Amino acid sequence: MNENSAIAANLVEVERLIAASAAAAGRDPAGVTLVAVSKTHPQSAVREALAAGHRIFGENRVQEAAEKFPALRADFPDLRLHLIGPLQTNKVRDAVQLFDVIETVDRPRLRDALAREAVHAGRDIAVMVQVNTGEEPQKAGILPADADAFIETCRAAGGLALRGLMCIPPVGEEPAMHFALLAEMAKRHGLEQLSMGMSADFEIAIRLGATHVRVGTAIFGHRPPP
Ligand SMILES: *Cc1c(COP(=O)(O)O)cnc(C)c1O
Repeated sequence: MNENSAIAANLVEVERLIAASAAAAGRDPAGVTLVAVSKTHPQSAVREALAAGHRIFGENRVQEAAEKFPALRADFPDLRLHLIGPLQTNKVRDAVQLFDVIETVDRPRLRDALAREAVHAGRDIAVMVQVNTGEEPQKAGILPADADAFIETCRAAGGLALRGLMCIPPVGEEPAMHFALLAEMAKRHGLEQLSMGMSADFEIAIRLGATHVRVGTAIFGHRPPP
C-alpha cells in the first residue's frame, strides 16, 4: 500500500475541515496554522506534503528531525519546523539549529538553557510554554499551579520570544476543558498563540481558540506502534 499518494488529498481535506471549524466559530480561517506532524514517517512523505504546497511541520524528536529535515530545508528554504516533543537540555544547541519554534518549554532549566543558547546563536528563539493541563505525572509540561509564574519568567528571559501556550490533553478524557483552560491562561497573560488539537480533536480545539493544530495521522496515515 502506498499511503503517500493520499497525503496531498489528506492535506486538502484537513485544511477544509480547519476552515469550516474556524468559520463555524466565527473565526478567520487564516488564523489557524496547520502543523503537519511527520514523526516516524519517512522523508519521502514530507516531500509529498511539500510538493502539495505545505510548509509547516512538527517533529517530536531532535535526532529524527536531524536525519530528515536539513536536506528538505535546503530544497525548501521557506519550510518551518516546530519541536512538539520533550527537549533535554543537552540537545538544546541542536534543537535551536533545527527548529524554528520550540513548543515544549516546561521547566526552568530548559528555559535557562534556551536563553543561553539564544546568546550563542545571536537571535531570539521562538518558544511556547507546554502546560500539563491534566496534571499527569508521566507527561511533560509545567503544572497549572506553577504555570502563571513560569510563563512570566519565560517572557522576561532575554533571548526568548514567547509566542504562546501548548498542551496535550490526557488520552481518553474530554479535551474541551483542557483547551478551555489553556485558552483562559493565554488570555490572562496576553499571549496570542495556542497550540492545541490533534487529528482526533482539532475541530474542538479551533472552536476554543487554537491558532496552531498539530495533525499527524489524518495527513500521513497511521504510525507504527512505539
Ligand atoms: C504525535 C503528536 C501529534 C499528532 O497526533 P495525531 O493524533 O497523529 O494527529 C500532535 N502533538 C504531539 C505533541 C504529538 O506528539
